[in-house]
Amino acid sequence: MGSPEFWGTLSPEYASCNGRNQSPINIEKTVRAELSPIEFKYTPGAYELVNNGHTLQVNFRQGSTIKIEGEEFALKQFHLHAPSENKIKGATFPMEAHLVHANSAGDLAVIGVMFKIGDANPTLEKAWDELPLLKGQTASIAGHFSANGLLPRSGEYYRFNGSLTTPPCSEGVRWFVMKESMTASHDQIEMFSAALGGHHNNRPVQPLHARLVLE
Ligand SMILES: [Zn+2]
Repeated sequence: MGSPEFWGTLSPEYASCNGRNQSPINIEKTVRAELSPIEFKYTPGAYELVNNGHTLQVNFRQGSTIKIEGEEFALKQFHLHAPSENKIKGATFPMEAHLVHANSAGDLAVIGVMFKIGDANPTLEKAWDELPLLKGQTASIAGHFSANGLLPRSGEYYRFNGSLTTPPCSEGVRWFVMKESMTASHDQIEMFSAALGGHHNNRPVQPLHARLVLE
C-alpha cells in the first residue's frame, strides 16, 4: 500500500486520501457540547479473526448495535493499531482499537478506544487464542465473545468527522474517541505487532482544516 503520504497519488480511487476531513487527528482544541451518551447493545457475536497484513480484525455476526444521535449502527468488526492513530492532546498511546459500525444507509461510525500498558485485556486474550501469524490467514473464534470488554467504564467521548485511515480513505465517517483508556499487557501489544511482521500500522495524524472536535 506504500507510504501514507503518497496514497493520494497512487490511483484515482485513492484521491480522498488528500481530502480535508481525513483521519486520524490530534485531538487538541475542543468545543464543549451536550453530547448524548452512546447506547451500546453488544451481544456475543465475534466469529473470526483475520490477519490481513495491515491489522488483526475481529468480524462480528449481526446483533451488536449502538445508538448514537438517534440513529442505529451495527457493529461489523474491530481492529487495532499500534501505536495509536489518533492522539489526545499530542499524546500517542501504545495501541488503539477501532470498532467499526454501519447504519442501514452504509454510513460508518467508528469508536476509538486507547490502550495503555497494564493488565492484560481479557477480550483480546480470547480473540488471540489462535492468532493467525501469516498475512491472509483467518482463524475462527469458538467463544463468540462480545465487544463489551473493549469499552471503558466512562462513556465520555470526543466527537468529530473524519475518514477511513487506510485507502480509499473515504470521508463522511463519524468518529467517537473514548476519553478513558483501557489497558493491555506488554505481551499482548508485542504479539499484535509480531503478527504484522513487526511494523507499525498507524497512519500519521492529518490536518484538522475546518473541523471542530466536540466533547
Ligand atoms: Zn483503524
